[in-house]
Amino acid sequence: MPIFTPNKLKQIGYQLFEATGCSPENAKAVVDHLVESNLFGHDSHGAIRFYEYAQAIQDGRFDPKAVPEIVKEHPCTAVVDAHNALGQVGATFATNLAIEKARTHGVSVVTLRNTSHIGRVGAYPLMAAREGFIGLIFVNAGREGRKVTPFGGRDARLSTNPIGFSAPRENTDPILLDMTTSVVADGKVRVAINQGNPIPEGWAVDSEGNPTTDPNRVRGDAPQGALLPMGGVVAHKGFGLSLASEILGGVLSGQGVAANEPVMVSNGVHLTVYNIEHFTDLADYYKEVEALSAHVKSSRPIDGFNEILLPGEPEFRCAKQRTQDGIAVDDTTWERICEAAKTFGIDPTAWT
Ligand code: NAD
Repeated sequence: MPIFTPNKLKQIGYQLFEATGCSPENAKAVVDHLVESNLFGHDSHGAIRFYEYAQAIQDGRFDPKAVPEIVKEHPCTAVVDAHNALGQVGATFATNLAIEKARTHGVSVVTLRNTSHIGRVGAYPLMAAREGFIGLIFVNAGREGRKVTPFGGRDARLSTNPIGFSAPRENTDPILLDMTTSVVADGKVRVAINQGNPIPEGWAVDSEGNPTTDPNRVRGDAPQGALLPMGGVVAHKGFGLSLASEILGGVLSGQGVAANEPVMVSNGVHLTVYNIEHFTDLADYYKEVEALSAHVKSSRPIDGFNEILLPGEPEFRCAKQRTQDGIAVDDTTWERICEAAKTFGIDPTAWT
């Protein structure tokens, strides 16, 4: 299993995506996002997507040269059509627009359609938090609704429909909630297949709705099963949040909801940015958030826990560790990246 420094993995990604026809700027937006996903420990949204996106460009599903366009605009709102650009290109454009609108008007909502897979959805509210704003994102997968069961259902009718929230803290990493409304991200099942590992109980059912720990019965060559909505015995809550993502992300963007057959798989995105100072004094905001953080962290940990972590802390800690130790890319993923590179005329032996 090859191990790369973040910088080396980025150089590999830049070379691959520039060979697909992306501008250096767009290649950087995509690759920096994916490598940060590996750093954050979300390998399902990291370099594993290098070959998938490259293949999609080769098949003509995504346009590496597309330029996102604002198709509807008011002072606090906008709808962006990414014209089939790579997801990170469309979502970065929409987020920068939302930040500038909130900077001027206090709050903004920007929706995005006709992009592709935007990756780790928390990355975009995090961009807002790094600028001192609060960000909130709801995302669906357009008409793709064959991955997650509704509460009480046997058949998949929804996507993993993630939600992200990020709020700045004083002199430390922001709070970063980045979660699917299913038990886990679909990509984690594919990582388990690539690594030859079973998946934990409670993640998924097979094609007949029976619990399974075999990832191949969920996403492999066997008839496709489904992930479960988040919440275990109270999965009606994950199911309800998933519907909120469908309506905010899918309907208000114009991307469409999980009904009918998918025309093109693409995330429908709904991003809200809050300018804190339009609501409260900044010093008071930080005082309250720090008090809240200290208060929840003061809870005595139960057996098996060393401490209370805030959302995002596992990812920021993992990033520090992997920056030091390097990013391991599993053999199947690496082979596929090398195969993709060859189809674009790159000799991957120079990479290792
Ligand atoms: P996850 O379950 O690993 O983490 C969810 C959240 O819980 C994170 O905010 C994390 O910081 C927090 N968390 C984890 N352990 C914690 C602990 N011990 N204490 C406190 N907080 C903790 O993530 P997931 O739901 O499997 O999603 C994985 C990734 O997949 C996300 O980045 C998501 O955006 C991405 N995704 C993207 C799409 C898409 O269509 N673009 C679809 C699905 C998922």
